[in-house]
Amino acid sequence: MKITFLGTGAADWDINSYVHGEEFRRYSSALVDTELLIDAGPHIFHFAENEGQPEILSNVKNAIITHSHWDHFNPEIILKLAENNPDFTLWGDAACLRAFHKRLGEENTSTINFVELPIGETHDVGGYMVTALPASHITHDPAECSRVYLIEKDGRTLFYGCDCAWLPSETWAGIVNKQINLMVLECTCGELAINDWRSFDHNDIKMLENMIIVFRKYNYFAEDVRFVASHLARELHPDHATVAKAMEAFGATPAYDGMVLEV
Ligand SMILES: [Zn+2]
Ligand SMILES: [Zn+2]
Repeated sequence: MKITFLGTGAADWDINSYVHGEEFRRYSSALVDTELLIDAGPHIFHFAENEGQPEILSNVKNAIITHSHWDHFNPEIILKLAENNPDFTLWGDAACLRAFHKRLGEENTSTINFVELPIGETHDVGGYMVTALPASHITHDPAECSRVYLIEKDGRTLFYGCDCAWLPSETWAGIVNKQINLMVLECTCGELAINDWRSFDHNDIKMLENMIIVFRKYNYFAEDVRFVASHLARELHPDHATVAKAMEAFGATPAYDGMVLEV
């Protein structure tokens, strides 16, 4: 599996202030190979159009959604993906469908294939074995269960956890014996926001450090496991190079828009 980061920012990045060539993060989203999209926020086509990869989303067959916050789920973008590919399927909590209805009306949802991914279950999503596990992160929909995803293919395992503060016990129990090769964890709050109120819904850099120290101490996951941080807030982190240096100290790497990693 290959992962391409289409966006690595939290919801405080303003797309109108994007200047090509300058440091910028779009709303967080990632593409696995060319087919499986994780989160479909409003900026993904901006990535395609401005980063010299106009066709990067043309083969997306499935999108798995972590939660219905607008930086992760945009109904108009879902329609555009479905227009590009008649076999397109949307996967996630039923809250995604409710948000879709609310925004665009029920008549438009008839064109969308939606499959609910219940928490704790593993489903074959276009050849990827995808498990949804709970995230500690709530939305305005009280019935929604935000989730993180485990994605397995060809003996390799990817964990994607944006947005999620720390790891709930159920999620830890679901991954502790997995041979995870690449773990994408969120780090909304950086060194400019230690002990921040947002740390009940998001990780700060100290939480990230503590988790990774524990993972490494007990050799959890695969021998070659790597830890990557995404969903960095514009106002809560210094520049990328400074963040990279801070994270290097505990064995993590901050992602950037356009970063490609082999899982
Ligand atoms: Zn977010
Ligand atoms: Zn969120």
